[in-house]
Amino acid sequence: NINTKEDVLKAIEANNVKFIRLQFTDIQGVVKDVEIPVTQVEKALGSGISFDGSSVEGFVRINESDMVLKPDVSSFAILPWNQSKGVVARMVCDVYLPDGTPFAGDPRYVLKKVMKEAEDMGFTLNVGPELEFFLFEKENGKATTIPHDFGRYFEFAPADLAEDVRRDIVLTLLDLGFDIEASHHEVAFGQHEIDFKYGGALSTADDVMTFKYVTRTIAKLNGLHATFMPKPIFGENGSGMHVNISLSKNGENAFYDPEGDMQISDEARYFIGGLLKHVKAITAISNPLVNSYKRLVPGYEAPVYIAWSGANRSSLIRIPAARGKGTRVELRSPDPSCNPYITFAAILAAGLDGIRNKIDPGENREENIFELSDKGLQDLGIETLPPTIKDAANYLAEDDLLREALGEHVHENVLRLARADWDAYRIQVHDWEVERYLNTI
Ligand code: GLU
Ligand code: MG
Ligand code: MG
Repeated sequence: NINTKEDVLKAIEANNVKFIRLQFTDIQGVVKDVEIPVTQVEKALGSGISFDGSSVEGFVRINESDMVLKPDVSSFAILPWNQSKGVVARMVCDVYLPDGTPFAGDPRYVLKKVMKEAEDMGFTLNVGPELEFFLFEKENGKATTIPHDFGRYFEFAPADLAEDVRRDIVLTLLDLGFDIEASHHEVAFGQHEIDFKYGGALSTADDVMTFKYVTRTIAKLNGLHATFMPKPIFGENGSGMHVNISLSKNGENAFYDPEGDMQISDEARYFIGGLLKHVKAITAISNPLVNSYKRLVPGYEAPVYIAWSGANRSSLIRIPAARGKGTRVELRSPDPSCNPYITFAAILAAGLDGIRNKIDPGENREENIFELSDKGLQDLGIETLPPTIKDAANYLAEDDLLREALGEHVHENVLRLARADWDAYRIQVHDWEVERYLNTI
């Protein structure tokens, strides 16, 4: 276990580390790194390593492009691949301005800020994300959308050709210190899921970033292409990143109440109330791409309707069966293209708003919501998630609580990126249109 500067130096020595990757994440959720030879490590652990942030997405601020990376020593890990030129380790970093203040556009900083608010109320956030992804074939070095295997849900070899690749990913994650709970084939051809143990929000967000680049790297080493694109194939399930959430207070699960209705506490109920209140705005963060909204349609196990329930998988928010320590709320809308730091921060801020203001989540819905008619939905007052990134961005623009929680800089940049993606999409002429209109109009 690495907790101090001295621990890092010892680990470097013991493993003969030659290079260190200083890792951080841009606002879009893309992992970035600066690699330093091990000779620079004392400096990195001291005053930090300067870099030019001006070309990093969402980092640019006029006259403020000089930034400093300071490693979080507890994230030190040896990267188990590519060791031919010497052992490579990585550390996740916080981003500072040259004057030593934290950079407001650093997603890690935003999450830490909201976690601090929770701590002031006595709560610690735990999250357990479930990432799904596709493994596709490559042709002439380029990624295709041809699935690597023709397995289906929970199938195993020989249908599940990808078994070995998935195992390779799991082994690498284990090497990096992940606590892997299970892995399985998902519903679509070529689609998989690997689940790791829940943990504190910050280290889990770091883990999501690591998970994605490990999966991509190992796929590549196996001649395949891994993608976290939310909906790569029309007519098939997309990839979600369900987020399991719980709060603890004084070491106890604050969502569990053996006496409560459904054995959940008032805090859990209010947290859900807060989530439901802000979820349309959160969607712009948890589902940040034009493509994200192609997943959020009926018929593919992805949520559409804004409702909460017990075990019912057709609703947006679910309380999985476990109680006691395992009591949790599952939000099913996020997809793995999101920035996990900002997404967890937004979820937490919304939930805390619910707790502070005792927001009633309304009745839980146990029927299959997908089978309700429009009239039925209307009678029950069930609304839908925003249908496009443009609509979601408009909700986020109006949400003052989230603006405050994320800070002006991140709020503005998330909106800018969302609208830029929409504008780029809007002016395209898609194959679908040509096929539909060319001969008939
Ligand atoms: N792939 C589904 C989604 O888009 C989720 C399937 C599942 O329940 O694991 O969220
Ligand atoms: Mg799944
Ligand atoms: Mg799930």
